[in-house]
Amino acid sequence: MRDFDVVVIGAGAAGLMCAAVAGQAGARVLLIEHANKIGRKILMSGGGRCNFTNLVVEPDNFLCSNAHFVKSALSRYSPWHFIELVSKYDIPYHERAHGQLFCDNSAKDIVRLLHSECELGGVQLRTRCTVERVSTDGNGYKLSTSSGEISCLKLVVASGGLSIPSMSPDGLGYELAQQFGLQLIPRSAGLVPLTFSGDIKSMTEKLSGIALPVRATAAGHSFDEAMLFTHRGLSGPAILQISSYWREGEWVSIDLLPDRDMQSELQRAKEQTPKSLLRTVLNHSLARKLVQELEIRWWPELAEKPLADWPDKNLQSVGEQLNNWQLKPAGTEGYRTAEVTLGGVNTDGLSSKTFACHEHPNLYFIGEVLDVSGHLGGFNFQWAWACGHAAGKAVASDLESALISD
Ligand SMILES: Cc1cc2nc3c(=O)[nH]c(=O)nc-3n(C[C@H](O)[C@H](O)[C@H](O)COP(=O)(O)OP(=O)(O)OC[C@H]3O[C@@H](n4cnc5c(N)ncnc54)[C@H](O)[C@@H]3O)c2cc1C
Repeated sequence: MRDFDVVVIGAGAAGLMCAAVAGQAGARVLLIEHANKIGRKILMSGGGRCNFTNLVVEPDNFLCSNAHFVKSALSRYSPWHFIELVSKYDIPYHERAHGQLFCDNSAKDIVRLLHSECELGGVQLRTRCTVERVSTDGNGYKLSTSSGEISCLKLVVASGGLSIPSMSPDGLGYELAQQFGLQLIPRSAGLVPLTFSGDIKSMTEKLSGIALPVRATAAGHSFDEAMLFTHRGLSGPAILQISSYWREGEWVSIDLLPDRDMQSELQRAKEQTPKSLLRTVLNHSLARKLVQELEIRWWPELAEKPLADWPDKNLQSVGEQLNNWQLKPAGTEGYRTAEVTLGGVNTDGLSSKTFACHEHPNLYFIGEVLDVSGHLGGFNFQWAWACGHAAGKAVASDLESALISD
């Protein structure tokens, strides 16, 4: 007799959901967490208020080498399923821009919800427990942990990604994937501020704290959200979003005045207010300090000339740059501040319905450890809930047949 039907490694968003669902479906579940408490990333998410889902979740909101992989789980567990759970616990929440849902009070409410759901399922929770080794007898699994040997029929790996090194991510999920013959897609920091060097860095330092709505574009993807100048470079939602698509050595385009054709507008300003300086015109639309920094770089010789004296081609060039400012980041702030890990366990080796490995039907991988990353806006938690739910159901429904053949 094995100690447990199911062991879930990692009491984060995906692992808690999976354990709760499997337990409530009748499986004897152990949830192992190496930290001293559960749901640590949930607690720090959304500035402490947890952006727990988004009202509109589409497969396009996710990055994955296999674009179809996310469809099944997302379609079977929608944002409304999680909202129903939030309502069951009377957790107050509100909607912010772009359909993002946040707790009114605290992310602790979401961790309590998941903990209660695990209790309802009779899930055993073991914190401060480190998994050292995993072996298989061809059917079930044996785990060597800091609190002894544990055997189970089904093993779910929900150990998350590499972001926030202070949380000591140990990469166990990736090691297990390789041990059991799954490929890894190269990993890097996603949803992360971009850093710059040289003149652009000194510019962002001077403008640090200024935020404005922009359209950020890279690798054919665009995001209309706020951008923030920082001491190290650029941040804010627009930049975090585009960082997931940007690759080292590539350019990012920033439209400082989205949906406005600045070439035409400046030409019109020249005709209507020929005595104005360009800075006076732009100060109506952009922060003065930003205009000042742009002036030093883009039109120093014409700074004190009225628009009437500007050659049309110079005015057009400034208009073009305002709508398409080309910047080459030096890098990103890395895992220290990243919200997600791009890349991870290659989904080709897994079922998109159950999250079981094709070659090891009793081994499952869910959540951020997979090569699936969501956009900013509650999509990463929705992915964690959806795949946790799918795997939780699958481990429990597979159990009967697996036990018979055991
Ligand atoms: C600062 C920050 C803010 C964020 N805000 C949001 C937000 O508002 N909305 C949103 O949708 N997403 C947000 N995210 C992303 C979101 O937190 C993750 O995508 C999500 O937590 C992934 O869930 P997961 O269960 O796969 O991994 P995690 O939540 O990281 O859980 C993995 C768990 O496994 C444990 N673990 C790891 N290795 C082992 C091991 N060897 N043995 C035992 N346990 C182990 C970890 O301690 C952790 O508890 C944010 C991320 C960060 C860093």
